Amino acid sequence: MSEQKIVSRKFISLGYLPAWLEELALGRTVYVPRQEGRTVLYRPFVPGDLPEFSRRPAESAKHVLFPRSEGLFSFCRKGDPGAPDTRGLLLSESAEPGQAVIFGALSCDARGFFAFDPVYDGCGTKGIAKDVYYLKRRENTALIVKACKTPLSTCFCHWTGGGPASAQGADALATDLDGGILLQAVTKKGAALLESAKLSPATDDQEASARAAHEAAVKAMPSSPSLDGAPEALLGLFDNKAFWHAQSAGCLSCGACTYLCPTCYCFNLTDESNGIAGTRLRTWDTCMSALFTMEASGHNPRRDKAARLKNRVGHKFSYYPRIHDGRFSCCGCGRCIRSCPSSVDIRQIVLNALKENADV
Ligand code: SF4
Ligand code: SF4
Repeated sequence: MSEQKIVSRKFISLGYLPAWLEELALGRTVYVPRQEGRTVLYRPFVPGDLPEFSRRPAESAKHVLFPRSEGLFSFCRKGDPGAPDTRGLLLSESAEPGQAVIFGALSCDARGFFAFDPVYDGCGTKGIAKDVYYLKRRENTALIVKACKTPLSTCFCHWTGGGPASAQGADALATDLDGGILLQAVTKKGAALLESAKLSPATDDQEASARAAHEAAVKAMPSSPSLDGAPEALLGLFDNKAFWHAQSAGCLSCGACTYLCPTCYCFNLTDESNGIAGTRLRTWDTCMSALFTMEASGHNPRRDKAARLKNRVGHKFSYYPRIHDGRFSCCGCGRCIRSCPSSVDIRQIVLNALKENADV
């Protein structure tokens, strides 16, 4: 069950769900899990096409707040070429993002945004820039997560402080019950979405049934090992090349793990111009690629894949928690494990680091 205070609760019969989603979509984009080809992805809701909840989305929902590629602003040179003021630039801001709702995201995907928030909000440190593009979308987007009923063998949200029914990072939690869905808002934004005549007041019995479903999902997961000491263990292995070569032996540097990860937030900036006008683009980048750290001089501080995997795992389980109150920058969604063509398992690497540390 969510550890957050519930500020309002409602119930929706399954028959009313399409109409409620259509209502939410008035003036907003509503993203839901949808079948696209052979896979399930978060895509805008289309009336008449119900969300796909029988399979979990292959990708995370991070592209809604952090698009794969986005124009930050456009530019063109001032005045006529040859005129004295041509050295200046005219800048035009990109359009403000509209209102959006993500309905039916996984709990782990919402916790992914929880990892983004402090980083893009300037780490709470005066003088560190805030990412206005992310923050505006975060403000304009409401998240309704759906409690997981059947965690997969690759899921380990409970290792990282979450759970199949966590509402961390979300505005409301939805739980499947007989004939409908219980909706529990945990923020004012979430409560506002529940103000609809399509929803009926929820009962204590429904809330008890939801609690039982959440507990059953937790029980279906193997018990979690303690990751206390993981940040220190990984840091202690920083210079242990043999350890990182062994962990990264199978890695192909394809980057699938980072692109699908709900907590990976690195990007690259490029200017695309045509003549004197152009757009500054920001595009997802991957620290698993050798080009990520290639410097203009040709020097590359992370030339080999062992150094890159060390950075990826170290960032999530050591460097990030050391500056963000012990919180891991991994929500345990397991996507990197499921999608890795070489079966690299981040859980095993962290456990290996803990064991290596204990053996020293
Ligand atoms: S998905 Fe697997 S093979 Fe690809 S970069 Fe990540 S760890 Fe390496
Ligand atoms: S590191 Fe893997 S398990 Fe952790 S959030 Fe990213 S994709 Fe999910």
